[in-house]
Amino acid sequence: MLKVDLHSHSTVSDGTLSPLSVVRRAVDKKVDVLALTDHDSIEGLPAAHVIAKSLGLKLISGVEISCTWQKTTIHVVGLGISLQSKTMQDLLDCIQSARKKRAKKIGRNLEKLGIKDAYKQTKALANNNIITRSHYAKFLHENSYSKSFQDSFKKYLGQGKPGFAKGEWFSLEQTVQTIHQAGGLAVIAHPTRYKMTNTKLNKLCTDFKALGGDGIEVVNSGNNPDKTKYLSNLCQQYDFLASIGSDFHSPGGFIELGKLPPLPQSCRPIWNQL
Ligand code: AMP
Ligand code: MN
Ligand code: MN
Ligand code: MN
Repeated sequence: MLKVDLHSHSTVSDGTLSPLSVVRRAVDKKVDVLALTDHDSIEGLPAAHVIAKSLGLKLISGVEISCTWQKTTIHVVGLGISLQSKTMQDLLDCIQSARKKRAKKIGRNLEKLGIKDAYKQTKALANNNIITRSHYAKFLHENSYSKSFQDSFKKYLGQGKPGFAKGEWFSLEQTVQTIHQAGGLAVIAHPTRYKMTNTKLNKLCTDFKALGGDGIEVVNSGNNPDKTKYLSNLCQQYDFLASIGSDFHSPGGFIELGKLPPLPQSCRPIWNQL
């Protein structure tokens, strides 16, 4: 059976491996089809494609876009997008500016708590790439402001916590449209991670379907069999295509490339359309 992983991150956003190393590791882990899906950037893909080709790995051009739906931040994965799409690049440029603005705001929030140079140091940690809350979490942990990476979110960075700042993202509609204009398929990432009620998640699926959304991630790291069953039912109910994604960020953790259970039989695999 094909080993598929359509959700992964590199140093272009908040992963710890370079795009090249992500591809190499996927090959090591016997992944047959990989999508590199950095947050709001496609910059890692050209180099990733060169190495993927030389190693015989099927690499899908992907991106994980932050957007807003009913005041909630939702992550939509675009799969099979063109790297030449001006519409996509314009959208990503705008999101990257919004991220910069938000990162500065988080920095100011942390300064108010007496945490010095938070923005400057976190920016350096991010190597001038996309700054995410993961970078702040790392900065806070490394400087003993929190007990762990996770604790940084609990104490400072999670929604409603004193360091948190809302991002000014595009709408779900603009996001789906842009992915389609770039020739890709739009997938709701980790649907159970938004902590929505069942009713609200159904509303999201209804709206996403009406906008032409293509699929949802049914198999995720951390999804227990009950969640997977729930998501496969949702997938069938809305006639979505089904995706599998580890959301790999770094080696050594519990989340690993390609280490995922198969899709339930009832699901239509999205990779057959890519
Ligand atoms: P951002 O897109 O800047 O809001 O950062 C979100 C990223 O932070 C996610 O993609 C995860 O990698 C990470 N993240 C968010 N919440 C948590 C959490 N509670 N624990 C660990 N990592 C998290
Ligand atoms: Mn992330
Ligand atoms: Mn995500
Ligand atoms: Mn992700």
